[in-house]
Amino acid sequence: MDSNLASLKSLTITPLEEKEKDEEFQIENSDEFDEEEDEEEEEVQLGFVEKPRNPRSLLRHLFPSKAGGIPAWLDPVNLPSEKSRTCGFCGEPLQFLLQVYASIQGKESTFHRTLYVFMCPSMTCLLRDQHEQWRYKQGTPSRSVKVFRCQLPRYNPYYSDVAPKLDGTDRLLSSGAPLCCWCGTWKGEKLCGSCKKARYCSEKHQIVHWKSGHKSECHKLTASDSPIANNGNIIGDITVSEIATWPEYEIVMEEECGFELEKSEGNSSSVGNSAIVTKYSKTDEAMQSVMDQFEADADKKSWASFQERISRAPEQVLRYCRDAMAKPLWPLSSGRPSKAEIPPCGYCKGPLCYEFQIMPQLLYYFGVKNDTSSLDWETIAVYTCSASCESSISYKEEFAWVQLYPATS
Ligand SMILES: [Zn+2]
Ligand SMILES: [Zn+2]
Ligand SMILES: [Zn+2]
Ligand SMILES: [Zn+2]
Repeated sequence: MDSNLASLKSLTITPLEEKEKDEEFQIENSDEFDEEEDEEEEEVQLGFVEKPRNPRSLLRHLFPSKAGGIPAWLDPVNLPSEKSRTCGFCGEPLQFLLQVYASIQGKESTFHRTLYVFMCPSMTCLLRDQHEQWRYKQGTPSRSVKVFRCQLPRYNPYYSDVAPKLDGTDRLLSSGAPLCCWCGTWKGEKLCGSCKKARYCSEKHQIVHWKSGHKSECHKLTASDSPIANNGNIIGDITVSEIATWPEYEIVMEEECGFELEKSEGNSSSVGNSAIVTKYSKTDEAMQSVMDQFEADADKKSWASFQERISRAPEQVLRYCRDAMAKPLWPLSSGRPSKAEIPPCGYCKGPLCYEFQIMPQLLYYFGVKNDTSSLDWETIAVYTCSASCESSISYKEEFAWVQLYPATS
């Protein structure tokens, strides 16, 4: 059981406070910090996407970090309400971007802890979101990007207190709330009036499902127990529409410092995918043309150092560092939030702290087109309650700050 617990712990992203308790780690590092150097860098964990080993390897009882597909809801029953799961502008259900399993040790209530990011796939909504994200003082702003935090103690109604074995024998202990037949993401609260079997999170998903085939299938369902088809992807036990979700990946975390070493040894193995390198680690020429669009010198400088840091591992989709001193790596110096623009926790009113940021590389893996009307961003920085507080709401809304590319004329 102890070894099981140890393996569960190895799944978690350990906050820095915890690591400092580890003597070996501390000794190793204090040396490093003394010998180096000019600029102190927090330890950042980088997230990379990989195709899942099998469709069942990312189910909720295995506590995955994942991108695309459907969320693995940590609390499978008390899902976000209709108001919190829709875009504040177009009113449509948000699409699952990614989730990060990031438990905080030393606290019973955060034995399991997962952060979820959703967004509206409409770039029009994201552009409107830009004007709202700093307006929390004027009331609750409308958002097209939402972050939820869910946490559970070790002893809880949904999971074993023993870590999963990850050998294919782990089983779900309980079923969750019924989900929408179209998106597989949100609670299916609305029933199809005719078959009384198909469930939907929204009228919109009911309509698209109807048009994409439920119309001809609905009457057969009334008489039989056959499953509801939508010609989509099977994720776990659920079939969801390919149109309603982004492609599914596992997120694998690695220390950023490992990549620095590789680089200094002249090993460029981390530069694997040339398409990504071309798009996101701009060549000198391309970078110059991007830089020419920035009016402020501060932006040029910021962009150059951002690119340099990213070039250590150009395929990173996530940068994680939950440390009081940690800051996002901003591509541009304009359009960053000041401290005053980060709201307090909506539950305990305590301060939020930066926890991770999402890189635009993810859009490449999602196959999002690279044209002006397509979804695009420079970075999405996620801030969460520094106390990771408790409240009766299972999915607590946290705060995202989105930095976009400057509008080109
Ligand atoms: Zn929208
Ligand atoms: Zn839905
Ligand atoms: Zn029906
Ligand atoms: Zn709080």
